[in-house]
Amino acid sequence: MNKPSAVSDTLLVSFNPATGEELGTAPIATRDEVFEAVRIARSAASSWSRTSFGERGAYILKARKEMLGRLDDIASLVSRETGKPRVEAVSCEILPIADLMSFFAKRAGALLRPERVPLGKFNWIGRSSWLVYKPLGVIGIISPWNFPLSIPLGAVTMALMAGNAVVLKPSEFTPLVGMEIGRLFDSIGLPQGLLTVLTGDGSTGSALCEAEVNKIVFTGSVATGKKVMAAAAQNLTPVVLELGGKDAMVVLEDADIEVAASGAVWGAFCNSGQICAAVERCYVHQSIAQQFIQSVVRKTQLLRQGPDNRFDVDVGAMTNERQLAIVERHVEDAVSRGARILCGGKRKLDKGGLFFAPTVLTEVDHTFAVLREETFGPILPIMIFHDDEEAVTLANDSRYGLTASVWTKDLARGRRLAELIEAGTVAINDCVYTHAIPQAPWGGIKQSGMGYTHSRLGLRELVVTEHIHINRLRRLRDFWWYGYSETTYRVLGSLASTFTSTSWWEKARSLPALLRAQRLPKY
Ligand code: NAD
Repeated sequence: MNKPSAVSDTLLVSFNPATGEELGTAPIATRDEVFEAVRIARSAASSWSRTSFGERGAYILKARKEMLGRLDDIASLVSRETGKPRVEAVSCEILPIADLMSFFAKRAGALLRPERVPLGKFNWIGRSSWLVYKPLGVIGIISPWNFPLSIPLGAVTMALMAGNAVVLKPSEFTPLVGMEIGRLFDSIGLPQGLLTVLTGDGSTGSALCEAEVNKIVFTGSVATGKKVMAAAAQNLTPVVLELGGKDAMVVLEDADIEVAASGAVWGAFCNSGQICAAVERCYVHQSIAQQFIQSVVRKTQLLRQGPDNRFDVDVGAMTNERQLAIVERHVEDAVSRGARILCGGKRKLDKGGLFFAPTVLTEVDHTFAVLREETFGPILPIMIFHDDEEAVTLANDSRYGLTASVWTKDLARGRRLAELIEAGTVAINDCVYTHAIPQAPWGGIKQSGMGYTHSRLGLRELVVTEHIHINRLRRLRDFWWYGYSETTYRVLGSLASTFTSTSWWEKARSLPALLRAQRLPKY
């Protein structure tokens, strides 16, 4: 079941992982097709780059309206192709992407407004500088299957708003949702060539990395991210890499135990744990550990799992067998090293599809795969710590650094710990969801990636920054130009200590030398 990869060299077959039902097929775009799409995108980008933010925003808002008008169909398609419940198709995909589209449609112009650069003493000699943000050209977007609508559509929206054309390669596990994104923009009459969706597998993604686009925005695993960066390096194509995580949740002794336990359960099992920012490691203070763990287990046992037929499930299927096999390996490794399974621990065979029961593990440590490697499945390993320093050391003992969370009533202490934790985002008394805030930056450190998406920082990834420098003293020759003499040498020498000084008094002393320098004979 759920054999997404090529059934032939030219075709993908998409399955519902909760039922095994075949949903449809999609072509695997060839290398030639990728290069041709990039060529067409480049010519479309040139006139699009001259449109106003208002015109671009109007297209995005039309696509948003079209998506919301078909909410039920789209939620159902996302649910059937990934196995997630329809509630999560809306809460984790449609709702946040509708918000992101509104935000960038309205705010991109302000976020990319030209900025004056304060030049300090260079202003004294009639200079001023501006930064202007110009479209890069063609953006290649390569996306994963866990949020097949919101991740690629968010990147497409931001790239178009920044004035670029896009070639999108969705995951081979969710090609139908990828094609749906293309259809949304076709149906609202986006000019031809500005967005091309090319379905395919790794070979299509690899061709896109070689096709000399102006930037690659890649979301996926660390292993593929390294390949993407290596391929992009051949043409010095810049990359944004949004990669995997092993996100820590730290529960301090003064946390609200019931709320933190609910947060841990949702943070670990939402989307069957297939979230880059899922809670994959939980550290709880020893004084509340017993109560917290009992509550987590009780809440986990309440979760209803199965195919989403009547809105009566909390946890859906995993999206593919490849990921389920990783989950099984992590649980087997943990058990062989002495971990205790407090609930779950195996596939749910009675449900028919790719279901793995939400699992809580204790008596684990950092030598276990389940605490070192990304699991990307419904497994919550819990460890006990004794003081803040130990909690921070444990949280930072990972090659990943995507998100983390600290749970406490004392917000000042929470912030102190948050700043000590090595991650792109650290939430206090919340977890996982900040990808849904378009105003806030999203990006990992360490092997969780580089660069940003969302917010002003994410938009700036999709433009080239040009520095424009103005000299208002247009009738004067610069004193460092030709006509060198010993006097020039002495004047420049004195400016080296006064003009560049950190003291205002010293800087002021450079004024006579500047006036003198300006009178030196020049060719
Ligand atoms: P993946 O790396 O297997 O695939 C991602 C995409 O890369 C797919 O479209 C795939 O076809 C393509 N690809 C495969 N080989 C390629 C190559 N050689 N060159 C170019 N493209 C290639 O990842 P996945 O299994 O689809 O997604 C799960 C991973 O994504 C997890 O590690 C998860 O943490 C990560 N993820 C990260 C974020 C984030 O924002 N940091 C968000 C979602 C998912």
